[in-house]
Amino acid sequence: MTALTAPAPRAGLREIPAYVSPQLECRARLNTNECPVDLPAAFHADLAEAIRLVPLNRYPDGQMAELRTALAGRHSHPFEGVWTANGSNEILTQLLQAYGGHGRQAIMFEPTYLLYSRLCRLTETRPIQLRLKPPFKLGAHDVAGALGLHPNVIFVCSPNNPTGNTQPLVDIEQLARAAPAALIVVDEAYIDFGGQSALPLVAEHPNIAVVRTFSKAFSMAGARIGYVLTSPGVVEDLQRVRLPYHLSALSQTAGLAALRHMDDALGLLEGIRAQRDRIVEALTAIEGCTVFPSQANFVLFVPPRPAADVWQGLLDRGVLVRDMTAVVPEALRVSAGTAEEIDLFLAALTEVLTSGPAPMPTPAPTAGDDR
Ligand SMILES: *Cc1c(COP(=O)(O)O)cnc(C)c1O
Repeated sequence: MTALTAPAPRAGLREIPAYVSPQLECRARLNTNECPVDLPAAFHADLAEAIRLVPLNRYPDGQMAELRTALAGRHSHPFEGVWTANGSNEILTQLLQAYGGHGRQAIMFEPTYLLYSRLCRLTETRPIQLRLKPPFKLGAHDVAGALGLHPNVIFVCSPNNPTGNTQPLVDIEQLARAAPAALIVVDEAYIDFGGQSALPLVAEHPNIAVVRTFSKAFSMAGARIGYVLTSPGVVEDLQRVRLPYHLSALSQTAGLAALRHMDDALGLLEGIRAQRDRIVEALTAIEGCTVFPSQANFVLFVPPRPAADVWQGLLDRGVLVRDMTAVVPEALRVSAGTAEEIDLFLAALTEVLTSGPAPMPTPAPTAGDDR
């Protein structure tokens, strides 16, 4: 360990672990909820041509006007209430830079996306992690509890990662109505796979920010593009915290190309949902396996054997899933991949559960053994 010598970082930094998500070589990478197939060749040809025409000697459009206009059109939302950044993770960071920070606090309903508490720490916002019990649905009681804590920011993830369930719009609206000075961040990274969007609430509640991404249903995780649909006032505040020209001309061009080919991405959704439902059905049929119903493109489950062993057993067979035991005891999360990838996953899981080492055997008492 030579890394931890001088210079000394700011207080608390070294209590934050480095962000790592294993990107191991394997036959089926089902750990990060990406779309399992890339966009078709026609999209890539269009993108290459568009990028060829970008004047890279110039700074990009700092207002990202073309991309924001296209998104405003897609969602029938006012241009002034649309803002884009490098992945929705940067959107979340900018929202916390504007509405969180030192002396302020953000509520999140656990188990949920790990980035919320992490980004709170990085922006010196105090994270308040309220816990929901299975089936992890918000209710009037949770809403009242959150409001009583006078938060500055409230995160609601719907469909929720890693549990897959959606949150009722009535509760989101109640949060927005009862805490008009707080920002209600509704993370809809998985909304194209299922659930009802909170977007119609924005017109009446300027303190709701609906966060979307190109990383999942748009099949563009590699491009790092996210956006927020909110009121013009929130976007004005984001203009104050953003870095100059934060979204490169290459990213803006890629986002526009993706929107031109949106039908290609949307055409993949049905197949992905079908694989998700197939995973739920297959896991439900396994004795002792707990499966959480999902509206997203992944499924959370508790296998009937120790999760760490199952995770390793799957990896030994070329299938990488996400270990979620830190947020839900003994739980693993599997992304809905292609039919072939899910074939592999289910075959590997059956093998692990039937031929893996038996669960801790209880030694049979033997006569004369007094230890
Ligand atoms: C994957 C995911 C995102 C996407 O983040 P990007 O930075 O846009 O890639 C956002 N929110 C949740 C809950 C996610 O699971």
